Amino acid sequence: MRPQSLFPLFAKIDRLPGIGPRTLALIAKVAGERPLDLMWHRPTGLIDRRHTGSTAEAEAGQIATLVVEVVEHRPGGGARTPYKIECRDGAGEIDLVYFNAKADWLWKTFPPHERVAVSGRVDRYRDRLQMVHPDEAVPADRLDEIARLEPVYPLTAGLTGRTLARALAAILQDLPTLPEWLDPALKAREGWPDWAAAVRALHAPAQGADLLPQAPARARLAYDELLANQVALAVVRAKLRRRRGRSTAATGALRRRVEGALPFALTGAQQSALADIDADMAGELRMVRLLQGDVGSGKTVVALLAMLAAVEAGRQAALLAPTEILARQHLATLAPLAARAGVAIDLLTGRDAVNRRTAVLLGLADGTLPLVVGTHALLQDDVRFQDLALAVIDEQHRFGVDQRLALTEKGTAVDILAMTATPIPRTLQMSAYGDMDVSAIREKPPGRTPVDTRAIPMERLEEVVDGLARHLATGAKAFWVCPRVEDGGDLGGLTDATGRAATLASRFGARVGLVHGRMATADKDAVMTAFADGDVDVLVATTVVEVGVNVPSATLMVIEHAERFGLAQLHQLRGRVGRGADKSVCLLLYQPPVSDTMRQRLTTIRDTDDGFAIAEADLALRGAGDMLGVKQSGLPDFRMADLPAHTELLAVAHDDARVLLANDPDLTGKRGEAVRTLLYLWERDAAIRYLGS
Ligand code: ADP
Ligand code: MG
Repeated sequence: MRPQSLFPLFAKIDRLPGIGPRTLALIAKVAGERPLDLMWHRPTGLIDRRHTGSTAEAEAGQIATLVVEVVEHRPGGGARTPYKIECRDGAGEIDLVYFNAKADWLWKTFPPHERVAVSGRVDRYRDRLQMVHPDEAVPADRLDEIARLEPVYPLTAGLTGRTLARALAAILQDLPTLPEWLDPALKAREGWPDWAAAVRALHAPAQGADLLPQAPARARLAYDELLANQVALAVVRAKLRRRRGRSTAATGALRRRVEGALPFALTGAQQSALADIDADMAGELRMVRLLQGDVGSGKTVVALLAMLAAVEAGRQAALLAPTEILARQHLATLAPLAARAGVAIDLLTGRDAVNRRTAVLLGLADGTLPLVVGTHALLQDDVRFQDLALAVIDEQHRFGVDQRLALTEKGTAVDILAMTATPIPRTLQMSAYGDMDVSAIREKPPGRTPVDTRAIPMERLEEVVDGLARHLATGAKAFWVCPRVEDGGDLGGLTDATGRAATLASRFGARVGLVHGRMATADKDAVMTAFADGDVDVLVATTVVEVGVNVPSATLMVIEHAERFGLAQLHQLRGRVGRGADKSVCLLLYQPPVSDTMRQRLTTIRDTDDGFAIAEADLALRGAGDMLGVKQSGLPDFRMADLPAHTELLAVAHDDARVLLANDPDLTGKRGEAVRTLLYLWERDAAIRYLGS
């Protein structure tokens, strides 16, 4: 249960004074609708209103805070001549200038002969000082209400900094008192403030340096977040490892037969990954290993050989895939190879006929079916194994912790082999994978022709379509990917893809197929199947998900609005072609003008074929927070931490979490209890369920 002290932070901000439904919606748009979200909404700039003094000292272009006496109102005449309020102080004169302001408000705010305090940018117009639309205007005796240092926040149309500041002030005034979860020695060494002080300081920058990731308050909060992340990962890891593993000793008998049947030899990288896996499986601890490698790097074969090790030991293995299409495809790859070894393998999805399903369930339960490939259907309660030894999880980031655990609960001390085709820079691996052991396949199987990648401006679309026609004429197939519309994209890019499919169909007719996320699975599958081995030759698709398939005869990939995709995503999409010996082409259609960063991205993707190098470049170009497709990569979406700026803190948090859990595995000690609060605060509390059970 979430500690009571945190309740107010998780409530809705419309309980704060002055926040109605409209403001709530606006704030929700930029930050979120809970005080918590607003608390993490960092200022990105600072307005310095400390320049005070007389009008004589005010300089054009500078922000100044002045106390002046109102002399006279000069209402404007129409849109061209603004409303002017002449003011003066002992040293000189200044006009306050308003366009389209309400006269009654102006009279009320600036009564003649009264002294007022104003703050804003000073200009010079025809030799007179003026301040157009002062940011602040209050009676002189309330000068103190004008913040001399005003943090600037990311806003949205209709939301003023003032409204945001008011909401924040209410939140900051009432921050809960939370126990300290930091290691005292670390806190002292770094000179970090207490939590509440840090939150307040975050929103009260006094100089530009306070806005930087290294500022003590920001660093502390970033550390909190990283620590929560690392503790959560470590807890899950400990849960997986708590029970001893079982040694699954392979004999190599089945494996040798499969290897003999492969038309190729394993690459060095595949062999070394397999050696890692063998050592883990034979060992007494449970395996929790991640196999990382580009699309097409040959992970599936490695997975199969690992699964056969389980069978050689008289046990079972399962492969979990995120979609039915992928599950089918895995089965199609694995079945002929398994057959060579005389090992039965079958499929379990949510759409199996009852008879078939029953047969598969029986086979798994009595052990006559040693291998199974399936979707989430594998996780259902009625799926029981005689003796599950190994769970292979493909595209692991598409499954939640619960789902991964659910599969491993179906056996005793089940080893886990997770796979991902999204390389993550080494510096970030810790935050994404925590304590998983990682085997990386960085070397591609031999004989691949690199994909010829070109960036082409959208205005040459017609040429591209002509090129597509020539391509199809050779009997080859093509992917055509349209992006998700990120902004206001209720339709999720549907119109883009639908529109494109329609244009292409007007030329290529029924050879054009369309898949998108909103289609029923059966319809999607039908189109995919028709593309894989039927009459559909051009597949228009909205997302990576739908193209996560292997169609060797597809040798052209067109990516529309390539500038909207992240590097990693572009790389993954491109990986769908170039799978055979034939030369493949990837066309990146972009909409000019392109920013420098974008141009660099397009250049990088064109010149590099190494997913790891691309991931590093992506990180360097944009920072982790901006890596498009972060969700897909399984990287957490940090709010306070800014990687790579906080990479060193991540390493400290990693060790800190390990030591903490080694000393207090169930987080019941004093610091442990405080860390529980931290997990709730950072919404990593799913991990708490795994404590002490
Ligand atoms: P991944 O799962 O990593 O995307 P796959 O396992 O599907 O990659 O392999 C892609 C293709 O490369 C498959 O057709 C596979 O048969 C082939 N392949 C795998 N390993 C090798 C190898 N060592 N040499 C040649 N081809 C290989
Ligand atoms: Mg694969």
